[in-house]
Amino acid sequence: MASAIVLLVLCLFIVTFCYIGFCLASPWGRCARCAPGGANRTCRACSGTGMRPRIGWQLWTYFRRIHRDGTR
Ligand SMILES: [Zn+2]
Repeated sequence: MASAIVLLVLCLFIVTFCYIGFCLASPWGRCARCAPGGANRTCRACSGTGMRPRIGWQLWTYFRRIHRDGTR
């Protein structure tokens, strides 16, 4: 039973690291609101660019800003 939990935690770690690497490799994802029909100029979510930063990338920049402000 314990080995199953270890395996589960290991899988979670691998998935998390893969996602972090994915976010660092391509921080910009397609806008979910207007991407299916191409970039929409009136889209407020991406301000018409059709590109949005991934949630992981937003978290990364958020924590980086906190770190920078805290160590100044
Ligand atoms: Zn959009």
